[in-house]
Formats: sequence, C-alpha cells, structure tokens
Amino acid sequence: MTSQQATEPEPDETDHESALETARRQLREAATHVDVDPGVIERLRHPTRVVEVSVPLERDDGNVEVFTGYRAQHDDVRGPYKGGLRYHPDVTAQECVGLSMWMTWKCAVMDLPFGGGKGGIVVNPKDLSTGEKERLTRRFAEEIRDEVGPKRDIPAPDMGTDAKTMAWFMDAYSMQQGETTPGVVTGKPPVVGGSYGREEAPGRSVAIVAREAIDYYDKDIGETTVAVQGYGSVGANAARLLQDWGAKVVAVSDVNGGVYDTDGLDTHAIPSHDEQPEGVMGQDAPNTVTNEELLELDVDVLIPAAIGNVITMDNAGRIDADIVVEGANGPTTSGADRILDERDVPVIPDILANAGGVTVSYFEWLQDINRRKWSEERVNSELESEMLSAWEDVRAEVEAGDVSWRDAAYVVALNRIGKAKEARGLWP
Ligand code: NAD
Repeated sequence: MTSQQATEPEPDETDHESALETARRQLREAATHVDVDPGVIERLRHPTRVVEVSVPLERDDGNVEVFTGYRAQHDDVRGPYKGGLRYHPDVTAQECVGLSMWMTWKCAVMDLPFGGGKGGIVVNPKDLSTGEKERLTRRFAEEIRDEVGPKRDIPAPDMGTDAKTMAWFMDAYSMQQGETTPGVVTGKPPVVGGSYGREEAPGRSVAIVAREAIDYYDKDIGETTVAVQGYGSVGANAARLLQDWGAKVVAVSDVNGGVYDTDGLDTHAIPSHDEQPEGVMGQDAPNTVTNEELLELDVDVLIPAAIGNVITMDNAGRIDADIVVEGANGPTTSGADRILDERDVPVIPDILANAGGVTVSYFEWLQDINRRKWSEERVNSELESEMLSAWEDVRAEVEAGDVSWRDAAYVVALNRIGKAKEARGLWP
C-alpha cells in the first residue's frame, strides 16, 4: 500500500482492529490492485458457513459443564478448508471468521490446494485436567464431525491445542467413521501420521524468508544482525537457523524480557519456550532489554515472533530495523503498517513468512492420504522450494506493482482465488 492510497483511520481503530476487521480491510486494499470481479470480492468478505456447537463435558468432580465451540469455513474454491482449532476464553465466532479468512490468503499465497478455516472452544485450557481436555476434544470432534474430513475441512493445532489434542481428535473421528483417518487433522505426533519437521516448519520458513529478504536488500547474511521477540517454536527455530546460516542474532526475548549481546548470542544454548518456559532471562549476556526496547534496537532484521499487535502507531516511528519479518500472526497493526511504509521499512508479511506451518501441514496431509512417510530431509527440502517459489511470486508483484510486500502477498493470493472462482463460476 502506498501512503497516498492509505485512508486516514482513527488511531484507535487502526491499533485495535478485530481479526475480522483486519481481514476485511486487507481484502479491500488488495482488491484495488487486482482485476477480479467485484462480486467475487463481495463473496470473499463472508464465510461459507460458521458452525456453532454446544460441547458438554463431565468434569472430574462429576459436574457437567457446557462449552461453546465454533468452526468457521471461509472459502474452499481451491480445496478443503484448512486451519487451526484454538482453546481460549476469548474465542468468538467473529474471531474465527477473521482468522479463517487469513488462512484462505495464506494457503493461496503458498499455492496450496486448500481454503481457509478456523475454529475453537471458548475455554481456558489451563483450567482443564488432561482427562477433561481429552473428553472435551473427543466430544467436540463428534459435534463437528459432519463438517470436517480429509476432503472437506482439516483442522490443526493452534493456541491452547497441540499434537496430543490432534491425536485425540483424529481417534474420535476415526472411531465414528469406522476406519483410521489420519488425514482429518494435521499437526499430529509422527507415530500416528504426523510429519517430521512440522513443529520446526513455521520458524524455518521465517528464517528462509528473512534470508531471501537480506539478500534482496543487498545485505550479506554474514554481516547481518537480527533481533527476535518471542523465543517459542517460531522465534527459537528462526533464530537458530539464521545463526547457523551466518547471521548474528544479537537479541532474543520471552514474555519476561530479553538478552542482548552486540557480539551475537549463542541461540542454541538459550532454551526455547518448549525446552524451558521463560528461560531466556536466566542466560548470561552482557545486557538485558525489555520487550519494548528489543523492538526498537538498531538491527538489520527484526522478527516479532511472540504475539499480535506489538508494532503499533505508538512505536512504529522508532523501529530502527532495516527489515521487519513477521513471525507471529498480525504483529503489526494497520496504523503501524502505514507508518513503516511511509518510512520505507519493508515488512515481510506473516501470511508469507510463517506459512511454513501450513505448508508442512499440507505435506502431512499428502503423506496421510498416500500412506507414505517422508524423511525430515525431504520435508525440509520441499519446504525450501515451496517457500522460494512463493517468495518469487510475491517479489515479482512487489516489483511489478510498486506495492508493499503485504499488499503484494494479498494480490498474489487474491488473483489465484479470483481466477479459481471465475473458472468454476457461481452456482446455481
Ligand atoms: P510459543 O508458545 O511456542 O512461544 C511464544 C513465545 O513468546 C514464548 O517465548 C513466550 O514467552 C513469548 N511471549 C509471550 N507473550 C509475550 C509478550 N507479550 N512479549 C514477548 N514475548 C512474549 O508460540 P509459537 O508457536 O512460537 O507462536 C508464536 C506466534 O507465531 C503466535 O503469534 C502464533 O500465532 C504464530 N504462529 C505459530 C505457528 C506454529 O505453528 N507454532 C504457525 C504460524 C504462526
């Protein structure tokens, strides 16, 4: 988006948009750059369907509680719906719709034969015992069984859910179908049809895209400094790979703050969230930084990989990185995006950078439906080529259209979806 095309929204609106508002605004902006029938754009503003279910759970103390679950299915013109299941107290139908729209764009920018879905249960998973979580998941799988399936809608882990949750979901679905159906969900443990390399994939794709951006902006990775906010699955894997490829990772953080060393940190020695939650600040380093300070460090590449809405209209003017690569989903608010665009700070968007997760989910689904296991080497090498191909498509759009990286990614996605809709037609 060029600054001339940006509207002047109220600060509160642009720093505090809902997922659905953001998804619709991004669609509207991308639509100005593509030659797609306005009827198709109007259709894409709405989900195909949103299913709401009641999920009764017998608690460990014998009481019965009823939770609300959702599955939003945005669009399946290019293939089955695909997207995570979130267990969180703030889950709403609207949020699921917004997030399912992002999944549609993410799958399309990667040219995967999937559309977008998202769902979840309104529950705090920390309040559940393991047994309660299993019973809730199995009942939820039963309640939405008609909506999902390997050719229809394929859930995956998201906030509050993990590989174990997916194994329970797959088992409950399979028991009812009368046949083992691993392709109904992705993100499973490898022993029941999960893919090697799936856990590492979003961080790996962030690192690949950062490496390509470093090269595109004529930097030498051996002389590049990187700061990473969030040292979980995405942040730690991205930081370690970039260090392995020669970059100097000078700062990393978790929820408590970060460590900073201008000579570069040993990222392999710092425990990720999974290895030791909140272990970053316990590491020896010459300096510590707050999460706010980390975002404003003078580095070549900044990777926000923790949570959404951390680069806002308030701090966007002080971002000192030459390139921002979004590891988290939605770390940059739309107001901040405009400010960074005006300051010529390229932001490589989440729907491209962290799409390694859904890409290896696609590989997992391929392995499941073909009953054929891939080695980790094969997964990583196919991920590398899918990421490079998507990077080239988006780069070509940036150069052809004089648009931001975010708009370019949406243009690539929207063109693919629009052409598929035009080819298939609206029926009846
Ligand atoms: P994670 O739970 O493994 O790690 C999150 C990290 O962020 C932890 O180190 C935590 O301490 C830190 N953190 C939490 N709140 C913070 C805050 N306020 N400030 C700074 N640090 C904070 O999570 P993850 O799987 O790495 O996911 C991180 C982001 O990437 C999320 O936005 C997620 O939606 C997105 N994402 C994840 C995947 C995936 O498959 N893991 C795929 C695509 C996108």
